[in-house]
Amino acid sequence: MNGGAGINEDWWICRTCAVEHATRPEVCAICADERQWVPASGQAWATLAELQAEGRRADVAELEPDLFSITSAPPVGIGQSAKLVRTPAGMLLWDPLGFVDDDVVQRVRGLGEVVAIVASHPHMFGVQVEWSRRLGGVPVLVAEADAGWVARPDPAVETWSGDLEVLPGVTLTQPGGHFPGSAVVHWAAGAEGRGVLLGGDTIMANPDRTSVSFMRSYPNRIPLSAAVVRRVTDTVVRFDFDRLYNNFEGVVPSGARDAVRRSADRHVAWVRGDFDHLT
Ligand SMILES: [Zn+2]
Ligand SMILES: [Zn+2]
Repeated sequence: MNGGAGINEDWWICRTCAVEHATRPEVCAICADERQWVPASGQAWATLAELQAEGRRADVAELEPDLFSITSAPPVGIGQSAKLVRTPAGMLLWDPLGFVDDDVVQRVRGLGEVVAIVASHPHMFGVQVEWSRRLGGVPVLVAEADAGWVARPDPAVETWSGDLEVLPGVTLTQPGGHFPGSAVVHWAAGAEGRGVLLGGDTIMANPDRTSVSFMRSYPNRIPLSAAVVRRVTDTVVRFDFDRLYNNFEGVVPSGARDAVRRSADRHVAWVRGDFDHLT
């Protein structure tokens, strides 16, 4: 441990993925996996106090009525944008940031009561247990299929599978793909009642804002099969949604359900060889 700031902390954050760990293994298992990477400079750990001492702050911004993003500057780990979905029955904290401080906890509490913390997949676990503790022991729901990736066990962690209506009108489901338990959220009241899907990187909104991608790994560009892309798509087109947000700043602002269908057809056609004459 370098510096005295972390002297009272007995847990660590991987600087590359920002996932919390109860111990400091030689290398973070999430980053050593083929879907992520360990930097050339080697594995690096930080304590939360160190991340705070570096001048980091979290910002909460409204994306649309009752949907908020939480980001940090400078970023931590993969640099995700956490999401907060607000309903009359409470809030869902989705893809929790790998950073938290008293200021952001106060801002979140000012918006409502968080009743569940859920990550779309292990890359987005962030400091989910720390968020839970600071919000009063909120349940942390982890996909059963990916529970083995939890590196900071806690009594607040519970597993789930299938479809789960975590709040009225807010339904979690697991299309899989990127990870076996990769999840998305359907929020029926989003986009002025036309429906929102929080796709994480299970279904990644592309920079063109009109299409999405399905990958086993984004940083290392590992593809998924046609069959898996069909399964992912079939799982989510059961829901009505018009807008899709990814786990960064990306969004398909309208027509997202059609965009998912169209993008899946394109993916399947490419891997089948329909467009090989273009290569
Ligand atoms: Zn890591
Ligand atoms: Zn990921």
